[in-house]
Amino acid sequence: GRRYHLKYELTQYNGDNILLLCFDNTQLETLRTTQQDFVANVSHELRTPLTVLSGFLETLKDLPPEAISAEQRQHFESLMQEQTSRMLAIVSDLLTLSTLESTKLGDQPPVAIQSLIEQARAQTEALSSQQHSFHWDINQDLTITGNATELSSAITNLLTNAVRYTPSGGTISVFWGVNEQNEAVFSVTDSGLGIAPSDIPRVTERFYRVDKSRSRASGGTGLGLAITKHIAIRHNAKLQIKSKLNKGSTFSLVFPQENIASNL
Ligand code: ADP
Repeated sequence: GRRYHLKYELTQYNGDNILLLCFDNTQLETLRTTQQDFVANVSHELRTPLTVLSGFLETLKDLPPEAISAEQRQHFESLMQEQTSRMLAIVSDLLTLSTLESTKLGDQPPVAIQSLIEQARAQTEALSSQQHSFHWDINQDLTITGNATELSSAITNLLTNAVRYTPSGGTISVFWGVNEQNEAVFSVTDSGLGIAPSDIPRVTERFYRVDKSRSRASGGTGLGLAITKHIAIRHNAKLQIKSKLNKGSTFSLVFPQENIASNL
């Protein structure tokens, strides 16, 4: 089922001789369709909140002031605020992604990952608002050469997802330490929705969501894992996903031994 894009050029030379050139444009075409898909996706993602917003504005414009109560007006305003924040989040994630793709990570200082996890911890537990039980096994003073801001957002993304995709009453276990191969591992295991085998390779694609409405409702932009994967690649790390549908998932960032700056 593989499709090839070939381009032929017929040239005549030497009077009678004909030269037929064949170009394999398959890669170029794949890139073109990927870009077209991406532009279509972005447009769609932004159009949805814009449509809602413009609908509300239209309604409010035509209403005489006394037609709705102050309470109803506030309700409209907060819905419009929500859509605006949504668009800002999408645009800001897209800019992050584009910076990650177009720049190189130069020499980096050692980063104490444990303190980054500690910082993300408060935020994660606040988001969960006591709906999950947490286990933090993170007392490992390893430092990794890397960019603290990027590593911090990768950590936050995985923790946020665990909270979002684990129903109330579930468990979230966080680990930071060394595995048997002496690689440094940050992992988040949840007892949540899990992901079907066919979806696992796709969740790091931009805007790919297993359940669109659930992800949108929880405030996701659909770009978190794409960003996290890029950050991992820039740090020579791997983003590993193990998951069982309806059982839960483990997302791990695995850093090679060479990136361990110190074992304090
Ligand atoms: P978002 O969460 O904003 O939709 P992400 O890129 O972070 O975007 O994740 C993409 C999709 O992967 C999510 O929509 C969800 O379907 C799935 N996913 C991510 N993390 C988990 C998890 N811990 N458990 C189950 N599904 C997940």
